[in-house]
Amino acid sequence: MTPVLEVENLTKHFPVRRGLLRRQVGSVQAVTDVSFAVAPGETLAVVGESGCGKSTTGRALLRLIEPSSGQVRLDGESVTDLGREELRQMRRRMQIIFQDPYGSLNPRMTVREVLSEPLLLHGVATARTLDAKLAELLQLCGLSSFHAERYPHEFSGGQRQRVGIARALATRPRLIVCDEPVSVLDVSVQAQIVNLLQDLQRELGMAYVFISHDLAVVRHIASRVAVMYLGRIVEEAPAAALFARPLHPYTRSLIEAAPRPSPNRRRLRAPVEGDAPSALAPPPGCAFHPRCPLAIDRCRSERPALRPFDGARVACHRAEDAPPAGGPAPAEVQ
Ligand code: SF4
Ligand code: MG
Repeated sequence: MTPVLEVENLTKHFPVRRGLLRRQVGSVQAVTDVSFAVAPGETLAVVGESGCGKSTTGRALLRLIEPSSGQVRLDGESVTDLGREELRQMRRRMQIIFQDPYGSLNPRMTVREVLSEPLLLHGVATARTLDAKLAELLQLCGLSSFHAERYPHEFSGGQRQRVGIARALATRPRLIVCDEPVSVLDVSVQAQIVNLLQDLQRELGMAYVFISHDLAVVRHIASRVAVMYLGRIVEEAPAAALFARPLHPYTRSLIEAAPRPSPNRRRLRAPVEGDAPSALAPPPGCAFHPRCPLAIDRCRSERPALRPFDGARVACHRAEDAPPAGGPAPAEVQ
């Protein structure tokens, strides 16, 4: 199937300037050579620790941040080459939901105003059909006309995120980038919002790029998972395969560190050991080597390429040594 989204060698390096003359002294390598594709109607999760470049990637896809280089195509059409007006048109087909629904909604606008803007701007509704379109949109997202005349501060976090979702859906996009859409919500509300996103996807068929650091949520929603470390994808695989047999040592430590979803296993495991090194001066060779229990000499000097492996892609010299699937679940190892 033709992908709805294709990303090729997406790179974003932020210059670091110092001194009176603001001379460039280096660059933060936020995102480097990220490539992936998303099929219509699927959910690709992008996971990793904070600062790994996943939000920068999400924003660069829509050019909310201008990429340094690389290509992004939506339905085969280049996003990276668009002029300002064409970019505005394109945003009808590619939308974003942010982590903090409060920060992303204008507090001086009612929900009606927040939602009318994209409906009218992109010609989804006319003045005559606006009320009907609004009602339809609110209902899709589990809200009602009662909410339309209210302001964001009158809502709970979950309701605000429903408004954020409604705003993204207003233009019936082909793809929505969801940037940690539930991470500031209470756990009980998280499930409702994740289920809403899934229901909407089943009904409307759009694809998601779902950015998250929460593997329990990702396990629930993703069809495929891309794992990022220091600005690069280090593993990408179908979700079931990735959780059954993670190939990269970093993916394994993320999964082992994640709290188990089962209520009987509340024991938290230690997070991934060591601090993530700085994206200003990534280590030579494999960027994960200072924290990797499997590191060998080669890892300190030679950066592993992202290569096809067993139906997945992995950037590790020792992917062949990954434990086979079906071993004891990490939580059962005492
Ligand atoms: Fe560890 Fe080496 Fe694989 Fe990097 S390449 S993850 S250091 S084994
Ligand atoms: Mg982020």
